Amino acid sequence: MTIKSFHPPLRTLMGPGPSDVSPRVLEAMSRPTLGHLDPVFVGMMDEVKALLKYAFQTENELTMPVSAPGSAGMETCFVNLVEPGEKVVICQNGVFAGRMKENVERCGGIPVMVQDDWGRAVDPQKLEDALKTNRDAKFVAFVHAETSTGALSDAKTLVEIAHRQGCLTIVDAVTSLGGSPLKVDEWKIDAIYSGTQKCLSCTPGLSPVSFSEAAVEKIRNRKSKVQSWFMDLNLVMGYWGTNAKRAYHHTAPINALYGLHEALVILQEEGLENAWKRHLKHHEALKAGLEAMDLGFFVPEDERLPQLNAISIPEGVDDAAVRSRLLSDWQLEIGAGLGQMAGKVWRIGLMGHACNERNVRLCLSALKDVLSRPKA
Ligand SMILES: *Cc1c(COP(=O)(O)O)cnc(C)c1O
Repeated sequence: MTIKSFHPPLRTLMGPGPSDVSPRVLEAMSRPTLGHLDPVFVGMMDEVKALLKYAFQTENELTMPVSAPGSAGMETCFVNLVEPGEKVVICQNGVFAGRMKENVERCGGIPVMVQDDWGRAVDPQKLEDALKTNRDAKFVAFVHAETSTGALSDAKTLVEIAHRQGCLTIVDAVTSLGGSPLKVDEWKIDAIYSGTQKCLSCTPGLSPVSFSEAAVEKIRNRKSKVQSWFMDLNLVMGYWGTNAKRAYHHTAPINALYGLHEALVILQEEGLENAWKRHLKHHEALKAGLEAMDLGFFVPEDERLPQLNAISIPEGVDDAAVRSRLLSDWQLEIGAGLGQMAGKVWRIGLMGHACNERNVRLCLSALKDVLSRPKA
C-alpha cells in the first residue's frame, strides 16, 4: 500500500479551539526554515517577545512562547513557581482548574480547592473566605476564561484579593488572550499562560507565558531544582533571554514561530481593543440568532465569554448526531461539552480569525437546518 500526501478537508472551526487559522499565518509558516541560532531568526524571536508584551499588556521582561501547547504553559508556571510543601489556593469553576490541581500535586505542593458552580464566574467572596482560613497560602490560581463552560471571571479583583494576603497569582488566559480584555500589568498578574490556537488564531502548539518581577524573584530563590528539565526557565532563558548570549537549549519550532509572529502582527494591525470589540459584536449577533431559535445560554449574561458560547442542548436532541451532521453536511465544527458538561451543552467558539459575520451566519443556518430536518 502506498500512503499518499494528506490533504485535509476545508472546515470552519467554531469549537473551543483550534480556531480557523488565517491564510497569512499559514503562508508565513511555509517560508524557508532558518537555523535556530541564525541571527536573523534571533531578531524575529525578539519581535515575537515584543508583540507578546503588547498582547498581554505587560512590560514583563520574562515574556515568551513555550515550545508546546497551552497545557505546557500551565505546567511551566506551576513547576517553576511551586515548591514542595507550598500551599496553592485554586478557584475551580470548570475543567481546567482541575488540571491546575494535578500540576500542584505533582510539584509536591498542597492544593486547596475553592469550588464554584460550573457555568458561573469565580466568586471573589469565596476566595477571600478561603484565604482567611489558609493564611499560609503562597499562591492563588484561577482560570480567567473557562473554556469548558464559557464563563469569564473578574481577574483584576481576584488578583487584588490574593495580593492582600501576600499570595502570588497564576492565571490561565488560554482562551482570553486576544478575545477579552486582559491587562497583565494593570491587574498585577504574576504568572500567566496562554495558547496560540484560540483567539490568536495561530496553529496549536505554542504557549505564550509571562512572569512579573515578583514571580521571577520567587523562581530565582527556589531551594530545590525545578523538576522539569525542559521547562526550567533558568535554562530556557539561556535561549530566549535578552542579555544572555543565545545558547542552544532545544531546537525552537522555527516555522511555528513564524506563524505566531504573523498572528501577532495581525493582532497589532487590528489593535487589541478592536479585537476585543469584534469578539463582543459577533457574540451579540450569534446570541440574537440563537435566541430566535429558542436556544439558550448556559452562563448568565454578565458572566459570559464572547469567544466561547455554551448553549444548552434542547431536550430530546441527539448531541453527537447534530455535531456529526454539522461536520458532514456543513463542514462546520462546534464543540461538545467537556467533563461534567458532556451531553449538556454545545460550545460554539467565535475565536480570533473565525470570529466574523460570515461564520455567525453559517453557524445559525447550519444549526437551523440540522435541527429542523428529521434524522437522515
Ligand atoms: C485549551 C485550554 C487549555 C489547554 O491548551 P492546549 O493548547 O490544549 O494544551 C488550558 N486552559 C484553557 C482554559 C483552555 O481553554
